[in-house]
Amino acid sequence: MEQPPNHIFAVSAAFVQTCGSCGSTFRVEIERQRFNGDQQEYVCPSCRHHVCRVATSTPPRITLLSTRPRK
Ligand SMILES: [Zn+2]
Repeated sequence: MEQPPNHIFAVSAAFVQTCGSCGSTFRVEIERQRFNGDQQEYVCPSCRHHVCRVATSTPPRITLLSTRPRK
């Protein structure tokens, strides 16, 4: 099912996650629509290596909060 162009992202759940690879923290906001069994993958916005999945039908919105300085 396609989203209308002016679809408003209605956040229904949000949590802060720490990347297990680089230590960055980022907020993951998901939009819970009619659950159809879909899963979306998302990655750490800093290193893009820490792949997770969440049960939602639309791609989650990721906001980088902080990064751990690299050595
Ligand atoms: Zn990372």
